[in-house]
Amino acid sequence: MLRRTKIVATLGPATESEEQLTKLIEAGVNVVRLNFSHGDADDHRLRAERIRSIAASVGRSVAILGDLQGPKIRIGRFQNGKVHLPDGAEFILDAELPIDAGDENQVGLAYKNLPNDCKVGDVLLLDDGRLSLQVKAIDGSRITTTTLDGGELSNNKGINLAGGGLSADALTEKDKEDIKLAASIGVDYLAVSFVRCAADLDLARKLMKEAGGNAAVLSKIERAEVVKDHALLEEVIKASDAVMVARGDLGVEIGDAELIGVQKHMISEARRLNRPVVTATQMMESMIENTQPTRAEVFDVANAVLDGTDAVMLSGETATGKRPHEVVRAMGRICEGAEKNEKLIARSELDRTYAGETDAAIALSAMLAANTLEGVKAIVCLTKTGATPLWMSRKNTNLPIYAMTRYPATERRVALYRGVESVAFDSGSTYGSEVNERAIGELKERGLLTAGDKIILTKGESREVEGGTNTMQVLVVK
Ligand code: PGA
Ligand code: MN
Repeated sequence: MLRRTKIVATLGPATESEEQLTKLIEAGVNVVRLNFSHGDADDHRLRAERIRSIAASVGRSVAILGDLQGPKIRIGRFQNGKVHLPDGAEFILDAELPIDAGDENQVGLAYKNLPNDCKVGDVLLLDDGRLSLQVKAIDGSRITTTTLDGGELSNNKGINLAGGGLSADALTEKDKEDIKLAASIGVDYLAVSFVRCAADLDLARKLMKEAGGNAAVLSKIERAEVVKDHALLEEVIKASDAVMVARGDLGVEIGDAELIGVQKHMISEARRLNRPVVTATQMMESMIENTQPTRAEVFDVANAVLDGTDAVMLSGETATGKRPHEVVRAMGRICEGAEKNEKLIARSELDRTYAGETDAAIALSAMLAANTLEGVKAIVCLTKTGATPLWMSRKNTNLPIYAMTRYPATERRVALYRGVESVAFDSGSTYGSEVNERAIGELKERGLLTAGDKIILTKGESREVEGGTNTMQVLVVK
């Protein structure tokens, strides 16, 4: 059975070696994430080269996603590496304290503007919300707090402001440098962290172009402001080529109880607005250590599949976990199980404004035909940019969508789209019915079709005009 939901896996020390990376890709990873928060340029370059050569030798299309660090707010370091904060204790965050001079009473800040971004009464969440501090007073560079939930606090931990509202720009100077790196590596997707508005995406795309890259821009939705405002969320999704429900930071800012509703809303909006969507963070967390996921994790992954997500993501599970490829296999199995429950999968409606576009109309007609005609085995789509299979993948079906293209960049880009399998195929110089024969022949050779199968095929009348798809045919494999 073809798994429709795609898996994004983050690389790290546990998956660096040729051997581990090979196992990871063989286990079924569709997109590999390079996290620019860790490692230097050469590390990322080497990893990208390895991914490409392994994917080629295994014969799979694997996309590379470069993930910018963004303005993650962090504390400085402690003289002794870490401290213990008791509940109720006073603790000071001081933007002017030397970055490595922290102790039991105070710590420096990597983000110097924090004292201007919070006010008395605010709650600051540290280390993904494990510790919380309430602001008692702000005096110049010093924020005096009372520890609400204490615990161990170590170097460089992240800070979130409950309710959101930090003023930092989405692209830091480091991110701008990393965009150049991403362009030179040739990543397929560029993830922008802590996106605030459409302009952040426009800027990232512009810098990517200037650096000579043509990655799709993916926005990580992880600020409370963006999900609280429906119009803003829609604007951000439209300005992105793909989106991520970045549940880690988002959950800390909006509170974990709000997450489920936001996840369902975001996935449904992304599908309506014709954008692929990734659901991320702590999906299989316990498998960093354990051999089996918890029931709750199984249900979490399955629930995202039923929501209609395109992809589910692994972070620490594959970056630092004990069994990276086992967790990918387990996750794949859970996705396949959930996908069987067709009736439970959220229906999606594409925004009506797309009805004016010919390729969209053909794609949607193809889905209607595929889902209503008796005995259809596959949807075959000859494509240049991958736009038609993207439209198709916004509609529910249990049939495979084969995106046939001679462009490797398109092959990799569609690796993220739910239910879409890319097939390398050179359409040659003729584009009449003989191309149908050859496309079908290619799929037969790969064992994906057999004589007698009914298929739906879409293509443009003239070869490879962007947005030129204007025909749909119902064919029987000879
Ligand atoms: P991160 O983003 O892993 O880069 O923080 C994902 C998230 O916040 O969920
Ligand atoms: Mn994040």
